Amino acid sequence: MEEEYGVLSAFTEVFGWIRTIPQAPPTCQHTPWHTGNSPANRKAFALPRCRAGPRRATAWQVVRRLRYHRRHGVGSVTAEALVKRFHYPATLASALLLGAGLIALGWSPGWILASTGLLFALLSFWMERRFAQQAQGEVDPRELRTDVLHALISNTVPTALFRALFFAAVVGASSALTERFGFSLWPAHWPLAGQFLLALAIVELVSYAIHRALHRSRLWPLHAVHHCSSRMYFLLAVRKHPLQAFLTYGGRLSVLWLLGLPEDTLTLLLVFTGANSYLQHSNIRMETGAFRYVFATPELHRLHHARRAAAIDCNFGDVLIVWDLLFGTRREPPAGPSSPEEVGLPDIEIPQTYINHLRLPFEWSERHTAARSSR
Ligand SMILES: [Zn+2]
Ligand SMILES: [Zn+2]
Repeated sequence: MEEEYGVLSAFTEVFGWIRTIPQAPPTCQHTPWHTGNSPANRKAFALPRCRAGPRRATAWQVVRRLRYHRRHGVGSVTAEALVKRFHYPATLASALLLGAGLIALGWSPGWILASTGLLFALLSFWMERRFAQQAQGEVDPRELRTDVLHALISNTVPTALFRALFFAAVVGASSALTERFGFSLWPAHWPLAGQFLLALAIVELVSYAIHRALHRSRLWPLHAVHHCSSRMYFLLAVRKHPLQAFLTYGGRLSVLWLLGLPEDTLTLLLVFTGANSYLQHSNIRMETGAFRYVFATPELHRLHHARRAAAIDCNFGDVLIVWDLLFGTRREPPAGPSSPEEVGLPDIEIPQTYINHLRLPFEWSERHTAARSSR
């Protein structure tokens, strides 16, 4: 089985080295202006009682608390507070600015998507190690290598294949429709921001419909590959069975091609959705506040990955949660960090190798029968 990774020995070396960087455990949640000094938080994160002060702190108490944390080796409390409040909106905003900037500089779409994808993946990787939401232990190297293979194969080959097979036909259909109606289906004269928002709303509706169908039909074994991890971490963003990737990417791209979306708007949309996906699956300590009513934030998406079969059937949004709100499938996770959702498949565990992920949909009923009989 190890031979399948032979070509990736260089990656193994690099990841082996990176894994030696110590991961900061969530030893303390307290910040100058917010403390998680509640029994529930202390229990959830196995924290000692903070002696640094009460919840509402005076300036002097803030100073005392900072000194307390520094003495106890918690590190930069200010950085933790900033990350908690601003990492989510700042990452989404920087994805937009970076994408728009690189488009303005004339970079090709391929280079923009590859470079920003790598950048936001590395950012999530580092942030998870420095500002972990939950102590999950080290990532299993086998799981990491499997997800790198998903990034290199499952997320590229199906899209390229779909483009090769259907791009010309869909664009031809789009031109025929434009000729028939006498005007373009897409408002290309709108400013880029307006076009981006319209494209996002449309593509999210398509994603919502496909994702909901994947959960509530015979296609579930294909999508179960995305749900088969017992931890939340950034690379789950790319964990997809190639057949599912063919369906979801194909469905989304077909609609946008049919509407005649300009290349720049499409590139910006893909940069944004890529950055969002790493953020949404990452295990970073964040508070997303009111964003939870517009975006499918990490805490909402964690509930979507719940192991409890009763909890999983909700929050289908990829970037936006507004379609879930509209169709009544938006759910909030149980209150408080004392009950983080256990994630994974409700009934079976599978070995985390790429080959096993590819086989899972075709061995689904066998694995189910075996799991049931072993209970
Ligand atoms: Zn799902
Ligand atoms: Zn997910």
